[in-house]
Amino acid sequence: MNTLSQVLEANKCFVFQSKIDSYTSISKVSKVPSRSIAILTCMDTRLVDFLEPALGIKRGEAKVIKNAGNSVTGPFSATIRNLLISIFELGVNEVLVIGHLDCGMAHVTSSELIAKMRDRGISQDAISMVDDELKVWLGLFHHPVENVRHVVSKIRSNPLIPCDVPIHGLMFDPHSGEIEVIVNGYGQSL
Ligand code: ZN
Repeated sequence: MNTLSQVLEANKCFVFQSKIDSYTSISKVSKVPSRSIAILTCMDTRLVDFLEPALGIKRGEAKVIKNAGNSVTGPFSATIRNLLISIFELGVNEVLVIGHLDCGMAHVTSSELIAKMRDRGISQDAISMVDDELKVWLGLFHHPVENVRHVVSKIRSNPLIPCDVPIHGLMFDPHSGEIEVIVNGYGQSL
């Protein structure tokens, strides 16, 4: 069975079970996060179904934005756009940037990535379009803790982000689930 078939099969069972459950529990979950929190974190597989319970965050309580290395690539990048929607449209008033120990992004280099793209038949023209951006993006990620500080500072200094929204920086241990505060966003100055 291929991946899509497995997902569809699991979904059938899930929807069937949900219908049964809806007779016994009435739970309305809103798209507006009930705890007014947005989390920017990494797409690492070890965080799936693990980070939120480790933080005591349940379905309906927070916006969760994920990308490789919980990064912000520019002042109006996809991550910043997601935060703007979260803050101005969905009532978010606090942001947690959560990096994690042993992040794979610390080991990715632009030259290796480009070599792999070439091996898979990606054209030089296509690579040339993103070459410089790849170098800047991956060159900035030396260490997960340093990256969290850098990303918090990038969001904090972004003129589109309101000053009264605290931006915290945290590190997560993907093995034990322990959190360490790197940047406390309360009373943060620009
Ligand atoms: Zn990661």
